[in-house]
Amino acid sequence: MSRDIQDYPVQYVKGIGPKRAKLLARLGINTLSDAIFYLPFRYEDRRITQKIADIRYNTFQAVTGRVIASELKETPKGKMKIYELVITDGSAVLTGKWFNQPYMKKVFKVGDRVVLSGTVKRNSYWGVGYEMHSPEYEIIEDNDTENIHSSRIVPIYRCTSGLSTRTLRSIMYNLVNFASQQLQEYMPEDILRRYNLPDIREAVQNVHFPNGGVEVELLNRGDSPYHHRLAFDELFFLQAGLAALKKKMAREKGISFDAEGDLIRELLQEIPFTLTDAQKRVIEEILSDMRRPYPMNRLLQGDVGSGKTIVAVVAMLQAVESGFQTAIMAPTEILAEQHYLNIRSFIESLGLRCELLTGSRKERPLDEIASGKVDIVIGTHALLQEGVEFKNLGLIIIDEQHRFGVLQRAALRKKGMNPDVLVMTATPIPRTLSLTLYGDLDYSVIDEMPPNRRPVVTKLFRHNQKELLYKIIRSELKKGRQVYIVYPTIEESEKLRLRSAVSEKEEIEKIFHEFRVGLIHGRMKPSERDDTMRAFKAKEIDILVCTTVIEVGVDVPNASVMVIEHAERFGLAQLHQLRGRVGRGPYQSYCFLVAYGRLTEEARKRLEVMVKYNDGFRIAEEDFRIRGPGELFGTRQSGMPDLKVADLLRHTKILSMARQEAFRIVNEDEQIKRWPVLKRMIERFWRGKIEIFRTS
Ligand code: ADP
Ligand code: MG
Repeated sequence: MSRDIQDYPVQYVKGIGPKRAKLLARLGINTLSDAIFYLPFRYEDRRITQKIADIRYNTFQAVTGRVIASELKETPKGKMKIYELVITDGSAVLTGKWFNQPYMKKVFKVGDRVVLSGTVKRNSYWGVGYEMHSPEYEIIEDNDTENIHSSRIVPIYRCTSGLSTRTLRSIMYNLVNFASQQLQEYMPEDILRRYNLPDIREAVQNVHFPNGGVEVELLNRGDSPYHHRLAFDELFFLQAGLAALKKKMAREKGISFDAEGDLIRELLQEIPFTLTDAQKRVIEEILSDMRRPYPMNRLLQGDVGSGKTIVAVVAMLQAVESGFQTAIMAPTEILAEQHYLNIRSFIESLGLRCELLTGSRKERPLDEIASGKVDIVIGTHALLQEGVEFKNLGLIIIDEQHRFGVLQRAALRKKGMNPDVLVMTATPIPRTLSLTLYGDLDYSVIDEMPPNRRPVVTKLFRHNQKELLYKIIRSELKKGRQVYIVYPTIEESEKLRLRSAVSEKEEIEKIFHEFRVGLIHGRMKPSERDDTMRAFKAKEIDILVCTTVIEVGVDVPNASVMVIEHAERFGLAQLHQLRGRVGRGPYQSYCFLVAYGRLTEEARKRLEVMVKYNDGFRIAEEDFRIRGPGELFGTRQSGMPDLKVADLLRHTKILSMARQEAFRIVNEDEQIKRWPVLKRMIERFWRGKIEIFRTS
């Protein structure tokens, strides 16, 4: 196979060499392809120079001038060292200040031409005059004949120590020129035409060293046509890999679960409600997958309380009646236990055997699982460990919260079994993200709540408003309702001073002495926990003080109040999950968030979102927005390739274009034989993380 220009090591490009290559490697730049996708984080328009005298205060500016003086000063008593640099452009002077960075005095000489970029402030001492605090700086030499650093829109790259802004820019100029001379278009022309995307050379040139035909503002937002092209490419590579993976799986042999459905019919007669249309629809989608002789790979999405459990149980019964075992896997032990209780209550009367298997449980019915006596196994990752052998595992249900990505699922299939897989997400995630994390899966959604659910009313309380809060709680209790009070930890931790459930239970008992208070926490024995939970369900307990044990799966329709203490410490997904524990019966329900101390900006936003929205999908979008693409719900953990240019929050349209085209190309020509360079680009992007294409 010929090597593509993209794989060319930057070290061999003229003017780079081993020493600089080492520094570049620190920035993740090893090959030309890395360099191409190493984009400036900012652009500066140095075609026109901003006169210092015309500057408005509190704006971000890049100012060019000559150094006329500099001095390292000390504040009285020597508390702080301030380095001051005075520059002028003839219209006025501007002072740059650096605090406690005395080495700055070695950087500049009087007479140097420099660019300082930063927010321009009023001189704090005189009240007039201009200054910048810790601005970015660059010394401009007068021999910039190629106009790399001046008289143009200049790219600003993130540097590393040992490489100045200016040196890195010269290197990038070199690399980009070299790359764009050699680069050949690899994307099919009809695709580029359809979306009006520029040619790869033009995109690479302009994204790094813009020719001036596009507004700086667009460049700075990452929204120029050149950015779009590179983002499209990244998303295309990503989606093409997923498409190939899906195609490959679809060819594999799987089980055809061909039972008549007697168990399902029996179950549906037993349950005290009728399925919603959405539940019926997704059940039909799942069952028709299961009947086909290929492995099912399906994602089931549905908001908290939308009724996913019963759907999962239906799928399990189809597997069991067809003569196979089934397993359901939860991310934590507590969640596994909750599922166990729930599912057992559904299937108790059907004469099936289900068992719980977690890491810490001593009882391990391994022999019964291996001999096929157990029909349904509920557990954690422990399920996948060696020593856990099934007789004939036919269906795996993964109930997860974004902890199982494409790669883990692939590993699971490789365990030698080829079972059907159903992934359930308890918290909905934005569509764009699910197309990335779960882009290889078929998709079912429960987009309808069971009838007679009223939206939960959510209110925020400060910790000093407890009296009011307790008054409301008491009036609900008097109506016969039940209450959850959730705390983030179980033991008093001096350091954090969190109110712990254990000590707080006594407090609550004092305040609500006429009511019965129960306690559940993670350190209790599972059997004790079960007992308390059952007592709460049977209304022998009015107030349940607990840690997040009850996050998922608990179902007490008479409970109408959820109090979340230290709500500022919970993530949005978790808050939404907790709130989902109320509003399950015919009563108006409430979620009271109690916040302590000074809130961080993020915490404040999270709580606002909770008060404002009830819809899980909406909350997921907001969560994504608040946390930003950097924290993609653990895409990193899931081992997905990094996106360097594309931004899943902003480039949603580009994502759907790229997905459509990638799936089309792979469907027409699975091995992408027609486009060999493109194929190698896709393989390079996935970097051997997954075997995407058949090796033939
Ligand atoms: P989740 O999707 O959060 O896992 P669950 O499966 O726990 O939701 O269901 C939430 C509650 O709604 C449970 O009490 C369940 O029995 C009930 N439920 C499920 N489907 C229906 C339905 N179609 N009509 C009425 N109640 C339902
Ligand atoms: Mg559930």
